[in-house]
Amino acid sequence: MVFRRFVGATAVRHRGASSSVTASSSLKFKAASALASFSSSAFGDAGRVDVPDERTIPRPGADGRVPIIHHASYSKPVMPPGHRFPMRVFQTTFDALRKEGVALAGINCFTPARAPTLDELCAAHDEGYVRAVCASELSDKARREIGLPWSDALVERTLMEVAGTMLTMDLAARCGLAVNTAGGTHHAHHARGSGFCIINDLAVSALRALESGMAKRVMIVDLDVHQGDGTAGILKGVPGTFTLSAHAASNFPTRKETSSRDVELPRGMKDDEYMAVVSAALIESMQDFKPDLVLYDAGVDVTSNDSLGHLDLTVEGLYRRERMVLDTVLGAGIPLAGVVGGGYSPDIDELASRHAVLHRVAQEMFRDHGL
Ligand SMILES: [Zn+2]
Repeated sequence: MVFRRFVGATAVRHRGASSSVTASSSLKFKAASALASFSSSAFGDAGRVDVPDERTIPRPGADGRVPIIHHASYSKPVMPPGHRFPMRVFQTTFDALRKEGVALAGINCFTPARAPTLDELCAAHDEGYVRAVCASELSDKARREIGLPWSDALVERTLMEVAGTMLTMDLAARCGLAVNTAGGTHHAHHARGSGFCIINDLAVSALRALESGMAKRVMIVDLDVHQGDGTAGILKGVPGTFTLSAHAASNFPTRKETSSRDVELPRGMKDDEYMAVVSAALIESMQDFKPDLVLYDAGVDVTSNDSLGHLDLTVEGLYRRERMVLDTVLGAGIPLAGVVGGGYSPDIDELASRHAVLHRVAQEMFRDHGL
């Protein structure tokens, strides 16, 4: 296996685009951050730069189709048998969306063309921590708190997952709505990882949106069953940000952070009650904060068949939730970037189908709202 150290970030730009966009069907990975060493094997000849034929690059939002962001590295790390983190589910979700015709290669599938830069990561994280992650130099204790077996592939997927959420925000800002097939690493704190999360894609993307002028007021709506403690901690007191977290009070983390608004839900809560409480909190938070961009963590671990969550939503309840959130935000004329968040089950196909609810509903809403 050959490792190559990339210096600087280059990216293929779609003419007229505000961000780096490549068509996943036709292009290969072009560059990485100045920090990371990657295996070149995932991307063929890493030293080669393909020049895209612009006619093959899809226009985001073309043909009334919601942009879907995916990267092959999301599911690349190999997990030991029986591990609770369902690493394969992100590729399985994308494959299911391709099969259903929700994601069409060359039409609405996009992949990040570069990894985040050091500056982008350090807007949310301690520089020493970021460097230790990228150089695979975290202590055993720090790795144990993350709970994932360490590998070069894990570092690569960590960075490309953040890049994917950044691209999702770019495309949402341009098209009104875009959805990632991974993302939602909300337990990653300023200087440490936790609960399967290493770098906080939500905080990094929100801060980049503000820094770039893409948005002035970013709201993070986190409906994963676990509290978005890392995001809340990183963004606490940061002007132009608002964190809303609705989560099971009895779930991880034991020690909760303070979000801009926390909604603690009782164990075993069902569809109707959940919808009433969460919908009210979302509407009130939007009225209070008046966001101009929403980043949505659509964790499916709120469903009754999740192996880690403590709530009792049906899959139909999940459809109702995604329609409510997207309709509320898009109905107010605010762009939304969606990420999948958590979901835990040994049945990867069934779990992927639950994650795909977000993308199916996003496709419906993209058309219903005339985006
Ligand atoms: Zn979760």
